Amino acid sequence: MSDSNSPPSGGGGSVHKPICTICFEDLKPIVEDLQTLLICGHVFHELCIQQWLEYCPGGKQPTCPVCKQSCSRQNITRLYFQSTGDSTQLYSSLSPQDPANANAQALVEEVKKLEGKLAVLTLTFENQQLHLKKVDEEVPYMFALF
Ligand SMILES: [Zn+2]
Ligand SMILES: [Zn+2]
Repeated sequence: MSDSNSPPSGGGGSVHKPICTICFEDLKPIVEDLQTLLICGHVFHELCIQQWLEYCPGGKQPTCPVCKQSCSRQNITRLYFQSTGDSTQLYSSLSPQDPANANAQALVEEVKKLEGKLAVLTLTFENQQLHLKKVDEEVPYMFALF
């Protein structure tokens, strides 16, 4: 019974697996909460898309991070995956006996979540900088009028 659950080394070339375009992490159906945009069918982590819509740049109509179709909070729905066999088996294989290992896994999950947050915030920040730049260009003009 060897259950080697080694993480991807990164240099595996182009392996086709679903990822969340917001945080660029793998999408893991069943074990993760996933949501899809009804208008285009693109799938993201629940947390990622929620944050995306909340901090959507511009404050106007939010758009899909992938195809830029306009969407709203009403356009997303939770995905529920059915797995074959006993689902408790899946969870028990995911929670290692070693508490230290479990702790490490929790930390990895936490880091992933924070990375997703950071990506969204960076995007918002860049957008605001753009906006500031625009304001900067307008201010001297207004002073000239004064
Ligand atoms: Zn994500
Ligand atoms: Zn889309």
